[in-house]
Amino acid sequence: MLKESTEVLVIGAGPSGCVAASYLHNNGVKVKVVERSKFPRFVIGESLIPRVMDHFEEAGLLDALIAKDFEKKFGARFIRGEELCVFDFSIKFGDGWDWTWQVPRADFDNTLAEEVVRKGIDLEFETEVLDVVFNGTDSVTTVRNKEGVTREIHAKFIIDSSGYGRVLPRILKLDAPSSIPENSSMFTHVKDIKRPVGVEGTQITFDILETKVWLWVIPFSNGNTSIGVVGPTSYINAIGGANNTEALKKIIAQSDFYRDRFEGVDFLFEPHKIENYSCSVTQLYGPGYTLTGNSSEFLDPVFSSGVCFATESGMLSAKLFLKERNGEKVDWETEYSDYMRRGVNVFATYVKEWYTGNLQTLFFHQPENPDVKQKICSVLAGYVWDEENPFVKKHDRVIKSMAYMLQNEKSAE
Ligand code: FAD
Repeated sequence: MLKESTEVLVIGAGPSGCVAASYLHNNGVKVKVVERSKFPRFVIGESLIPRVMDHFEEAGLLDALIAKDFEKKFGARFIRGEELCVFDFSIKFGDGWDWTWQVPRADFDNTLAEEVVRKGIDLEFETEVLDVVFNGTDSVTTVRNKEGVTREIHAKFIIDSSGYGRVLPRILKLDAPSSIPENSSMFTHVKDIKRPVGVEGTQITFDILETKVWLWVIPFSNGNTSIGVVGPTSYINAIGGANNTEALKKIIAQSDFYRDRFEGVDFLFEPHKIENYSCSVTQLYGPGYTLTGNSSEFLDPVFSSGVCFATESGMLSAKLFLKERNGEKVDWETEYSDYMRRGVNVFATYVKEWYTGNLQTLFFHQPENPDVKQKICSVLAGYVWDEENPFVKKHDRVIKSMAYMLQNEKSAE
């Protein structure tokens, strides 16, 4: 069998893998990326949050993305019937980016991968990881390319950024149940021929149909718009209709806000359905590897945290590998696992409190409390490690107690 060697092997060329590979390469590490698909390839996860901009900038990938003119995202709008709640990332607690993008991921991820290749990184498409065997921290990975040729890649370290492929969790049996309730989703793209001019046409929106059921509308700069529904798996499976197109059309017809805009508009592809998408792992690292992005944990689409965790963990894995390579001691438990889990836990609270309805009570309360809104806005922008923010530090109590107080106030009126 053919053999080759690299210092770091990155599995998967999504945002997580590209950020990790690029940062390592820029710092003189020999890195190889293997990617199962041919790019551009479809993947869901189109609404980004500002924290990702820090990662793309630090990885040297930002300029290539800016050149693409993706639709800028300055905040997010939540709708519940007649009620509105609009977050503006420029009005948030603390520092950080004020904007990001909403993107067709095929195009976006292809831009990242092309930039990785342009930098001179060895990225092999249509090459699938079949198996990994560890010998201490060294590893031998068996891959197969599109011609069906199998070979071995020896690596000192593996960053598993294989997303939904979950390569190492599968091989090492690290899968764990998620703490998030079982939700599912159905989504497609449309040619947005009735898109209104101005901000309304490009505004990213989450339209709440029932407390646990919501619709996303994500307009792209190419004139297409992504539409998807999220809800409990039992709800999504009970929508009915002859196929996913009929089912999604039924759901869109329930939206007072979007019914007319999307009525009679053709879907660009039969809606995809992903059931019970939340996932977790028993550990985020081990001797000779880390798990990043969706290969480790995915919560829920509601606050668009997926790509942010993917790039945060890809970047941190790369930095800690480099630190250790430079002869410094790395405590992977505190510096990687605890750090990542702190951020995940903040978002997990927000996701859970979204579906209990408590967070919706805070979002739609009138009059708005600007101070509370700024602090929540910072969380929604992805700055979930900023412990100066009480809505980060006391995340497990503050939403619940504030919602309780507001509901009591309302019932006393
Ligand atoms: P990916 O982008 O999935 O990339 C992993 C790559 O690994 C893929 O290209 C794959 O081909 C490759 N791979 C897999 N197996 C192998 C193998 N064996 N060998 C080689 N390569 C392999 N996130 C957001 O930020 N915003 C959103 O609005 C959002 N909406 C979502 C909606 C739904 C319904 C769902 C389910 C998720 C959503 N997400 C969202 C989450 C988002 O999809 C992921 O968090 C994000 O894509 C993770 O990036 P990644 O780099 O970890 O993995």
